[in-house]
Amino acid sequence: MTASRRQLFVTTALPYANGRFHVGHIMEYIQADIWVRAQRMLGHTVDFVGADDAHGAPIMIAAEKAGVTPEQFVAAIAAGRQQYLDGFLIAFDNWHSTHSPENTEISQAIYRDLKAAGLIQARTIEQFYDPQKGMFLPDRYIKGTCPNCRAPDQYGDNCEACGAVYAPTELIEPYSALSGARPELRASEHFFFKLSDARCVAFLEQWTQEGRLQNDVANKVREWIAPGEDGRPKMGDWDISRDAPYFGIQIPDAPGKYFYVWLDAPIGYLASLKNLLTKRGQDYAAYMAQPGLEQYHFIGKDIITFHTLFWPAMLKFSGRKAPDNVFVHGFLTVNQGEKMSKSRGTGLDPLKYLELGMNPEWLRYYLAAKLSARNEDIDFNAEDFMLRVNADLIGKYVNIASRAAGFISKRFGGRLGEISPDGDALLTHLRDALPAVTELYAEREYGKAVREIMQLADRVNAYVDQNKPWELAKQTGMDARLHDVCTVCIEAFRILTIYLQPILPKLAGDVAAFLMTPPENFDAVTRPLGKGARIDVYKHLMQRVEAAQLDALFEPQVQVQQVESAIKDEANVGPAAAPGGEPLAPQITIDDFAKVDLRIARIVDCAAVVGSTKLLRLTLDAGETDAQGQPRLRNVFSGIASCYQPDQLKGKLTVLAANLAPRKMKFGISEGMVLAASHGDEKAHPGIYVLEPVIGAQPGMRVR
Ligand SMILES: [Zn+2]
Repeated sequence: MTASRRQLFVTTALPYANGRFHVGHIMEYIQADIWVRAQRMLGHTVDFVGADDAHGAPIMIAAEKAGVTPEQFVAAIAAGRQQYLDGFLIAFDNWHSTHSPENTEISQAIYRDLKAAGLIQARTIEQFYDPQKGMFLPDRYIKGTCPNCRAPDQYGDNCEACGAVYAPTELIEPYSALSGARPELRASEHFFFKLSDARCVAFLEQWTQEGRLQNDVANKVREWIAPGEDGRPKMGDWDISRDAPYFGIQIPDAPGKYFYVWLDAPIGYLASLKNLLTKRGQDYAAYMAQPGLEQYHFIGKDIITFHTLFWPAMLKFSGRKAPDNVFVHGFLTVNQGEKMSKSRGTGLDPLKYLELGMNPEWLRYYLAAKLSARNEDIDFNAEDFMLRVNADLIGKYVNIASRAAGFISKRFGGRLGEISPDGDALLTHLRDALPAVTELYAEREYGKAVREIMQLADRVNAYVDQNKPWELAKQTGMDARLHDVCTVCIEAFRILTIYLQPILPKLAGDVAAFLMTPPENFDAVTRPLGKGARIDVYKHLMQRVEAAQLDALFEPQVQVQQVESAIKDEANVGPAAAPGGEPLAPQITIDDFAKVDLRIARIVDCAAVVGSTKLLRLTLDAGETDAQGQPRLRNVFSGIASCYQPDQLKGKLTVLAANLAPRKMKFGISEGMVLAASHGDEKAHPGIYVLEPVIGAQPGMRVR
């Protein structure tokens, strides 16, 4: 069915390496992952890469606060990425970093090529400089009094009190948010990419307006390119350099100058690709020179300018290939529609979702059902989520197999039978949907694809209800018809599974094992299993979502205000009398509390304990040294094996009760206790949560 094999290079936006993934990242990765899987099922070749965006002042400053190097800081963030990607079945071919030799090499090469094209210009600009820190200050690190409304402590670029936008130099009484010092204006030479050059404008007018971009994106971009009152495009030239100290890539032949993080961030796409090709022994230059190579970027609506102006122009005028398209999605909101119930929070922590044992394919299916090709926000609604998964995915689709498979195993030796004309008509109808379904995937209209597939499932269920295999099974002389009806159901289930495979890759794999076939491409819908084909005994394929899981997922964080008001109002001894399933312990004094010495500790190593299903063995660094000045590590056993894999905890910081008397256990001596939270009723509310400090805490620091 595929006219020709295409070669596609696909990326998602690079997450900034100063925090964990949030659900918005996961949504984007799932959107791209579904598209990539669908393209592969159409027979095309896809290379799908991501990377951490590791440079820039915010990371440099956060690392300094944490007392680590920027390299250590971003490495710690990177170490936490894979559990999310694996957890949500997001199959990047490579995950790399912009802080890499490949990115340095390609960024410097692109810069040299842009310079040779006459599109780099040096200009002297005046900027605020922090004399105590010895560095130029990014806008967000300058604060002062708003020149418009006189609100104090406003940021250097806009006022949160009145919304005014201004230059940092307009602030009244400006001060450095890093040191508190009064910043000085200093001159510095910066490099600009001349985006307002007539060549760039002409190229961007064409690239952005020839129909590739989503309509609303193209319209927005047109405003930036259009000439302003001075006859020059609004987008202006782009300041691509920053002065040392800066965590980034050095600009060639310009000592003390670094690329602004947004210059090398998108180049990280190419760096990750090059890293992947090198691992495979493929040549990067030859790969990029393929005439048919197509390049696509999935991004959020907040970074349109970078990807529709700077990035294509940088590539084009450095003699490289501009992207074929940029696919923009909106934001994901959580429980916004749930106006009636305040009980569920508006944050969805993807790691908590996984740790609660919730099925990643529920979320993939739900997001797919809501996603379209448009740049619009979508809302995760807990009730809607439960309904779509339980009623549609399981009720309409998964149940088809369970209704037919038992009879095939018990009555027909696990072998499929003949298909009569009415069954064949149904299956033909299902197969005929193939072009429509694949087209919807290719256009990123996943919601429409899901609707189409669920309508097909409705047809199959109507067929089951008409033929009632459970009644045929009780009638004598109806064996052949029962065999026929169940065979039609199994074949229909196989076709629907192939249609859903980009969204539900693990389930499709389980179904393939059950049908004793390999997972296949879309064109396999036209190749039925056939009479006599053997299938395995049906095993349950998917659990239903339970309301308790969603309650646990959205259990609101304790709100300080609520706690304060509860303390003030002593009469308030209602439900709060047993928070988390147990009453508060008797009151103690601050001196009692001070007897417990709590310290920040790094989990240097974590391992399963042979002979115990409950315990994990933790090796902790609480910043201690022995008499010889050597680091002293502690051995602590913790009853958390039911909730954590050892790899999930390695490298993390936690809180240690450090002056607890050592305790001899069956497996060795435990030198302290790691703090963890759990509900008083562990049966009804399973889950143990090891405490982790906010970034910046260091091993050995006391918790008070
Ligand atoms: Zn103001």
